[in-house]
Amino acid sequence: MEYEPVIGLEVHAQLLTQSKMFCACSADYAGAPPNTHLCPTCLGMPGALPVINQRAVEFTILTARAFNCEIPEFAKFDRKNYHYPDLMKGYQISQFDLPLSRNGFILIDDAGTIKKIGIRRVHLEEDTAKLFHDGNASRVDVNRSGVPLMEIVSEPEMHSVEEARLYSLKLRQILRYLGVCSGDMEKGAMRFEANISLRARGTTELSATRVEIKNLNSLRAMVHATEFEIARQTKILNAGGTVEQETMGWDEARNSTFTQRSKEEAHDYRYFPEPDLPRLEVSRAWVAEIEARLPELPDAKYDRLMRELGLSSYDAGVITAERDVAEYYDRAVDAGKARGVEAKTIANWVSGELFRLMKERNVEIGAVKIAPAQIPDLIALVNAGTISNNIAKNVFEEMFATGDDAKKIVQAKGLGQISNRAALVAIIEKIIADNPTQVAGYRAGKTALAQWFVGQVMKATRGQANPALVNELVADKLKSL
Ligand code: ADP
Ligand code: MG
Ligand code: ZN
Repeated sequence: MEYEPVIGLEVHAQLLTQSKMFCACSADYAGAPPNTHLCPTCLGMPGALPVINQRAVEFTILTARAFNCEIPEFAKFDRKNYHYPDLMKGYQISQFDLPLSRNGFILIDDAGTIKKIGIRRVHLEEDTAKLFHDGNASRVDVNRSGVPLMEIVSEPEMHSVEEARLYSLKLRQILRYLGVCSGDMEKGAMRFEANISLRARGTTELSATRVEIKNLNSLRAMVHATEFEIARQTKILNAGGTVEQETMGWDEARNSTFTQRSKEEAHDYRYFPEPDLPRLEVSRAWVAEIEARLPELPDAKYDRLMRELGLSSYDAGVITAERDVAEYYDRAVDAGKARGVEAKTIANWVSGELFRLMKERNVEIGAVKIAPAQIPDLIALVNAGTISNNIAKNVFEEMFATGDDAKKIVQAKGLGQISNRAALVAIIEKIIADNPTQVAGYRAGKTALAQWFVGQVMKATRGQANPALVNELVADKLKSL
């Protein structure tokens, strides 16, 4: 029998707030010495009281709206009780039945096919402390305890590892556009849990049992674990067995899943309303105010670049991948309008030369010295015939290194295209005089040697001669020999 994978993802994203979720400690703990960002609240001391971080709530509502979610009028925090050494209080403050948002979706583009993936809810909770195990010792660093974590729960609507990968990338892209999460997986800013089941292809019912894989700390781990789990379940079903409902871990080194425990149910956590926090009233005016902060999102940008500016889907995709790059490009296009420079030509320079140099020299868009308006200025010089396209590439490199204007570089280095007939004729005559063998060859009928003479002229002028004019003048000269 043929099986279809059913995948649902739970993604945890650390929010870029200044302070932690329920206390005033700094949430920016990366690189800090262990146990330096803490207070009675995030240490879980009895009697310490939590206070809701307003910015974290706003980031969550902003994200939820970007994912087309509904925002209910009331939200509530609940205690999720379990015991683990990284959980200071013995419970995590999370959201159970009244999350900040529900019922959204995002779109993914799987090789040209657009698919809608439902988002069940986006809610807010707090991160745990971090454990380090070495040898016989286990140590705990509380700095991460209480950092705001946004949980994004998808519907079980992905049916291949590739769809799960594209969904995760799209989430990350939107979170970075919104500036709510760094998306930096190496630093643990985004973590995944994958829920996987199989069903007979062609059927629509969800399998009653599923396997949840926890602690996937990178996109790569999520992809490998999901592939592994689909293969494992396929083998069980093909052998006539049944897949047990369970929670598994992922062993990166051995590239395999391992059983952690049989799947816990919601009642195992003994959820109950957090008594130290009030129910949160989310006024419509507040939601509207937050919504007004939504930037143009990647899908809208991508469509606009293709439809209005005529970019290829490749260029539109790479330019909108990061918001900073897309905004840089938009500013260059705006400046280009006054100079009659086409948006498509600017896109070629950005996705070509600019990206190449950024990659080669390891420069982020924010540190690029070329101002957006300097790009159409350079292109205008090419359009006016002042410099050739090849010279323009050299000028661009110089601009990248120094931030100088194209015009200034062209003047200072004498790079202007040579279109002066008399000057070019003099150069051609000298080359003819210096190369009797080639001249004889040409006369004997090797007319292809004309291109060799053109090449010599370009070399002598360091590429600055106007190529069309050189071709014409060389042909004239050789004919009159
Ligand atoms: P919990 O993990 O807390 O029990 P849910 O039951 O809401 O939470 O489901 C969590 C995730 O499991 C969701 O992302 C959902 O899409 C996914 N899921 C639910 N049923 C299935 C299934 N049959 N196969 C695969 N994923 C599923
Ligand atoms: Mg879960
Ligand atoms: Zn604290």
